[in-house]
Amino acid sequence: MTVIIDGKAIAKDIRLELKEEINQLKQEGVTPGLAVILVGEDQASQTYVRNKDKACAEVGIHSEIYRYPAELTEAELLSKVDELNKDDNIHGILVQLPLPSHISEDKVIDAISPLKDVDGFHPVNVGKMSIGKDAYYSCTPYGIIKMLEKENISLEGKHVVVVGRSNIVGKPAALLSLKESATVTVCHSKTKDLSSFTRQADVVIAAVGKAKFLKADDFKPGAIVIDVGMNRDEEGKLCGDVDFESAKEVAGRITPVPGGVGPMTITMLLFNTVKSAKLHAAKAVF
Ligand code: NAP
Repeated sequence: MTVIIDGKAIAKDIRLELKEEINQLKQEGVTPGLAVILVGEDQASQTYVRNKDKACAEVGIHSEIYRYPAELTEAELLSKVDELNKDDNIHGILVQLPLPSHISEDKVIDAISPLKDVDGFHPVNVGKMSIGKDAYYSCTPYGIIKMLEKENISLEGKHVVVVGRSNIVGKPAALLSLKESATVTVCHSKTKDLSSFTRQADVVIAAVGKAKFLKADDFKPGAIVIDVGMNRDEEGKLCGDVDFESAKEVAGRITPVPGGVGPMTITMLLFNTVKSAKLHAAKAVF
């Protein structure tokens, strides 16, 4: 029988563990702090930032939100990042993407101290991840690895097929799977005969951004199906990159959308912020 992986419950457990760690840190005089910068009026970004703020409050992380109009200059934004880099009460800095087109996202990400880059987007953290070192890992793929760990699923020796090669999901999901000793195949829009790859997979990580793109026929019976997609179907309902209803008849385990990978993403942001605060308290770096 197919097991539905309950990302919401796993995320809740991790947040409870974090809450205890945060209480401990507070007793030692350290309150983990996250600064979030939002530029412009993008509705989705506003919602993400609100959710991050709420999640911080729930576990006891101090959060500061800096909201700026879309006209903010690149220099002004870089100056704010610099100020937060030097602020001892702030352990994590997150600049909500996308930024208005007159601001270079690369420049802004590069300006965040790698030691406070809790989104895991800085080239130093990406580089460390790619050579298998400890670092801040991108929250969504790291959430997938944690979720599998909590489900007692080892990736060692498994064939993981990642569909998608974006810098924030596909590529880091592939690198982190490799770190777990999986055999990894990465597919993308130029891949020929995609399903010949996905059908060989013990684990499929779907990060395509197309509603219900992968169907039952694309999976090997018993495969573990991790659906990262967040799309709207024809009726405007939230759905993943996997056609859940058909795929669940074939998969051994599968994540739903909503309630699968999604809740893990913010949880790993909290996790990375606490990790940074702990390193700061211990005056250590990795
Ligand atoms: P993205 O940057 O648009 O990347 C999509 C990837 O899919 C690209 O690498 C693209 O290939 C590949 N692709 C597109 N069409 C394909 C096809 N026909 N066959 C095979 N591969 C194809 O998207 P993303 O940022 O990685 O996000 C992917 C999905 O995850 C989206 O639905 C997004 O909303 C969701 N997401 C969810 C969370 C969460 O917390 N749950 C977080 C982040 C993203 P090319 O590189 O060749 O163009």
